[in-house]
Amino acid sequence: MTDPLTLHSAASLLTAFCDCITHDIHPVSAKSVAEGSKLFGAAIFRKSDLSLIIADTNQEGEEVGGSPIWHGETWTIKRFFEMPRDTRPDVKECLFLTTHEPCSLCLSAITWAGFDNFTYMFTYEDTDKLFDIRGDLDVFEHVFHLNGGETAQQASSDGSKKQVRPEYKLRNKYFVALSFAELVAAVEDSGKREDWARRVEKVKRTYGSLSPEYRKNTDIGSSD
Ligand SMILES: [Zn+2]
Repeated sequence: MTDPLTLHSAASLLTAFCDCITHDIHPVSAKSVAEGSKLFGAAIFRKSDLSLIIADTNQEGEEVGGSPIWHGETWTIKRFFEMPRDTRPDVKECLFLTTHEPCSLCLSAITWAGFDNFTYMFTYEDTDKLFDIRGDLDVFEHVFHLNGGETAQQASSDGSKKQVRPEYKLRNKYFVALSFAELVAAVEDSGKREDWARRVEKVKRTYGSLSPEYRKNTDIGSSD
C-alpha cells in the first residue's frame, strides 16, 4: 500500500486532483448525467509525475447501454485495462482518484484491480446528506452489517435512525484511503490550508451542481 502523501506534497496532490475533477471529470459526468447516468467519476494518475492517464464517469444510463455496476470507479478501471499494455503503467505505479468515497462494490474493484491507494473528495456522509444517496451506507448496513447498529439508534436524540460510517480499514495491506479533508489538513502553512479548504469547497459545490439533473435519473435515495 502507498500513502500518496509520502510521494507528493498535499498541495501538489490537491492541485492535480482538483484540476482533474474540474476540467476532466466534471465535463464527462455532465454529459453522462444528461444521457441518463448517475453522478460521480474517477481518474488514474502516474505516481511519478502526477500526469493524468484516464478520467471517466458513471455509465449506468440505459440510453448509453449501461449497466448498474458501471459506477465511476468500475467503469474507469475497465477502460484503464482496455488500454494497450504498452501504453499504461502497472497499477502499482498509479494513484487512484474518486470524486466520492467508494461504495462496497468499488472498494472491492479497486482492491482486486491492484491499486494500492485511493483519494476521494465527497465522504459517505456528504453522499448521504448532500445528494440524498443512501445506497452506499444501506449496502454496508444490510449486506455487511457494518454500521453503528443499536448504539447509533439509541444515540439519536430524536429517535430517528442515524447511520454511521462503516468501519472499513482505511489503511490495510491492500491500500491507503485518503480524503480531501486529510490532504487539506496536511498542508503545513495555515493560510494556504485555509485557501485549499475554500478551493475544495468550491470544487465540491461546482461538481455537486450536477445533482438536480442526476436526481431525475435515479430512484435510489428518494424519500419514498
Ligand atoms: Zn461504486
